Amino acid sequence: EHAEGQEPRRILLAGPRSFCAGVERAIEIVERALASRGAPVYVRKQIVHNAYVVDDLARRGAVFVEELDEVPDGATVVFSAHGVSPAVRAEAERRGLDVIDGTCPLVSKVHAKARRYAARGDTVVLIGHAGHEEVEGTLGEAPESMVLVETVDQIRELSVPDPERVSYLTQTTLAVDETAEFVDALREKFPLLHEPPSEDICYATTNRQHALNAIVAEADLVLVVGSPNSSNSVRLVELSRRQGTPAHLIDRAGDIDPAWLDGVRTVGLTAGASAPPALVTEVVTALGELGPVTVEEREVTRETTHFELPWVVRGTAEQST
Ligand code: SF4
Repeated sequence: EHAEGQEPRRILLAGPRSFCAGVERAIEIVERALASRGAPVYVRKQIVHNAYVVDDLARRGAVFVEELDEVPDGATVVFSAHGVSPAVRAEAERRGLDVIDGTCPLVSKVHAKARRYAARGDTVVLIGHAGHEEVEGTLGEAPESMVLVETVDQIRELSVPDPERVSYLTQTTLAVDETAEFVDALREKFPLLHEPPSEDICYATTNRQHALNAIVAEADLVLVVGSPNSSNSVRLVELSRRQGTPAHLIDRAGDIDPAWLDGVRTVGLTAGASAPPALVTEVVTALGELGPVTVEEREVTRETTHFELPWVVRGTAEQST
């Protein structure tokens, strides 16, 4: 300890971090639905897994419900970024609801593969977390042909009707390194495994993990901005801890316990794909209030992915200007 005072604490920002293209699109869909239809606009499940985003949209007239039976006949309902099963779509159609689909196009791609693989007679192994909305939606595409696995042991114990007809899919927000172990176990168990032409873990999940990997060894503490039900955010916390750096998931700057910072010279800071960039800025400001800081960003790649809005809401911005 220097008598003349501390060196400033370093904040090392991982890039990319925060909002992905699918989340930006889903939020914009709700905003445009509110602008064109007026409140209330119903949203089935949280539009994205972030408490701040959900509270903000709720204040502006979005009504978040768990299931369609809470939506009045004829009302507008937005499906969340995580996707829905065909049974939910059918129910909405039967009810005559005005559906606007916020499903991320990268989730829809996984759904399409599930249908295709099941149709060719495969048992489709889905690697993912039980109870997550994305997993429920994907499993719903072919419930009789699909099996969810959450552990490598479950793969070793799997029994399928025809071991020569097995393919696999994954949730879009898994840990890249852990998923590789699952796939190795599948290859070992089913030598004729049908491999998908491309990974299901999405670009945003992959990039945020790579970006954190690039700073984690230099950090004494990692803070991940995100909500507890955000799968990709939780994976970032786990990744950091696996690499030996203590990490905490925080929704807002107010969740920071100053005791976490004892002896910490470098704070690694990132945010899950559903966490707004403004909340990262809020955390940087809060850390600055706890003592002098320097801020440095390490960007491993630049994201340019952008998804078109569904046509039903595409015209609304032009109309309102
Ligand atoms: Fe789409 Fe990936 Fe973002 Fe999920 S995390 S909304 S799959 S881009």
